[in-house]
Amino acid sequence: MRTGQINVQTENIFPIIKKFLYSDHEIFLRELVSNAVDATQKLKFLSSNGEFKGELGELKVDVILDLVEKTLTIRDRGIGMTEEEIDKYINQIAFSGAEEFLQQYKGQEGAEQIIGHFGLGFYSGFMVAEKVQIRTLSRHEGAKAVQWESNGSPDYTITDIEKSDRGTDIVLFISEESKEFLEKARVSGILDKYCKFLPTPVFFGTKTEYIDSPEGEKDENDKIKRVAIEVENQINNPEPAWTKAPAELTNDNYDAFYRELYPTSFDSPLFHIHLNVDYPFNLTGILYFPKIKENVEVQRNKINLYSNQVFITDSVAEIVPEFLTLLHGVIDSPDIPLNVSRSYLQSDGNVKKISAHITKKVVDKLADMFKKDRADFEAKWDDLQIFAQYGTLSDEKFAEKAKSFTLVKNTAGKYYTVEEFKEKISALQVDKDGKTIILYTNSPDEQFSFVKKATDRGYEVLHMDGPLVSHWISKMEQAIENISFVRVDSDTLDKLIKKDEILPSKLSKEDEEFLKPLFETVINKDKFNVSFESMSIDDAPIVITQPEFIRRMMEQQKMGGGGFFGAFPETYNMVVNGNHAKISEVLSAADTEAKTAKVKQLTDLALLSQGMLKGEELSNFIDRSIELV
Ligand code: ADP
Repeated sequence: MRTGQINVQTENIFPIIKKFLYSDHEIFLRELVSNAVDATQKLKFLSSNGEFKGELGELKVDVILDLVEKTLTIRDRGIGMTEEEIDKYINQIAFSGAEEFLQQYKGQEGAEQIIGHFGLGFYSGFMVAEKVQIRTLSRHEGAKAVQWESNGSPDYTITDIEKSDRGTDIVLFISEESKEFLEKARVSGILDKYCKFLPTPVFFGTKTEYIDSPEGEKDENDKIKRVAIEVENQINNPEPAWTKAPAELTNDNYDAFYRELYPTSFDSPLFHIHLNVDYPFNLTGILYFPKIKENVEVQRNKINLYSNQVFITDSVAEIVPEFLTLLHGVIDSPDIPLNVSRSYLQSDGNVKKISAHITKKVVDKLADMFKKDRADFEAKWDDLQIFAQYGTLSDEKFAEKAKSFTLVKNTAGKYYTVEEFKEKISALQVDKDGKTIILYTNSPDEQFSFVKKATDRGYEVLHMDGPLVSHWISKMEQAIENISFVRVDSDTLDKLIKKDEILPSKLSKEDEEFLKPLFETVINKDKFNVSFESMSIDDAPIVITQPEFIRRMMEQQKMGGGGFFGAFPETYNMVVNGNHAKISEVLSAADTEAKTAKVKQLTDLALLSQGMLKGEELSNFIDRSIELV
């Protein structure tokens, strides 16, 4: 037996490791299983270039729980270590063996497969163990098996042991305060989270499978009996879809992989992008476009970041632009620095390049789909729209390219690009000042009468809904000269698209001055602003509108951003149609009581048509109407 002191700069590094190295203690398992996979990959590599001449055997990693000894063991059949190697790679912990390995084999194929990012990975075992043993037999012919043991002080011992299998066992004697890591379900959960796609098969315990009875036993219905057998439980898929070439994969394969990533998701993705870059940085992955619903937040942060198939995090906000966090899938890049602070990540050169690359890929894919199969693109548009609008609002490069494929839909369900639509309405929907007026509705049902008025007159109305619409149209108005978006119910049609001809009004100035106070007695003056307009006789007698500007500001404030104005009071315009016969009837009614009754009934009807008549007012209105029958 030999003893020694682990060569550390600070007197005792273990308390630091325990407390601060990883705030998440469960990470130890990721680190140790990754090391085991590394050791296996290294052996494969040495075998492929002829340096290792022995039998590889079954290359796998086992995670073994022993509840009697209270140990958790990570066993590999990789390169193993000699005593000298233990001294070099384990005792001198500032030294990264993986780094040296890479130096030596730089540029050779397969060498980059070695996970060497994690610095003090091995020592993370001390976060959960009171004692750690390394029992290892090196790949070298005639090597002697050794055991290294330390209880978390800088002192260690090395002894010769009997071990016939090549490779390494890391045995963790789990401490009392970490006994959760002796629970099968807990260990299973961690393995599933971090190790699901590691490149070497990893096994943990057994699972029950049902097979046809090997003896051919039959049941009472004369069918072959199904019998339960215990089989080794492989926890990972060593060849996840993103590591394969796109040409090898069908759409079904991509869908199946989506389900592997999100077993609890019901939706199928709309389409995917397979990322595959090896210069000037390394990046693979598959991004999926989900169907994006109103509630954007629930769909966020589903992209998983991997480094050489080791799960790192599902929070990629610092790595991809914010709007891309709506996508789902996997990014795998060994070039994203992992042991630096999150805020530093954003300024890292590689991360910036990766982020720009992904943005470009995504926008190019959309442009490409639009060009190749417009009908299919249109069919997907409703589910894509929020994403495209989000991108347009938050990324100038995206916005520039997105112009070519961003669609709008009219109330008849026909799709146009913004340019096409502007062209289409250029004859009719231009006001007397030469401005193109784009009418839209967010709800053809609720704004039915407004939409009908407009389409009856030959105008086009766009159907636009979703949380970002009001921000997006503000952006369009800035980007495209001389256009203005107005919701159909934001004013009377004649005011929305002002033409030169003005209809003469039946009401005189005096009539209007007489009527206005009458209206103001039956409605809330602070909320409704009464005005008169000379409309067509078949327009409604009263139209309630909400100015575009005020409504848009309120919507933008609700979504966040766009508002330093303070809270807006909710105000509406109540526009009285001076040419309507019923308004003339108000004037000619016998007395004030009769006049007020008519005004009340007309305003209630206008409110009702907007869904704004509620509660007691609605109940009174119904009672009055029953009287009238
Ligand atoms: P890193 O993996 O960043 O080098 P670690 O502390 O995790 O840092 O491991 C230090 C070194 O110990 C590794 O580089 C490797 O040379 C060696 N090592 C660790 N685990 C094993 C193992 N299971 N088999 C062989 N060598 C190992």
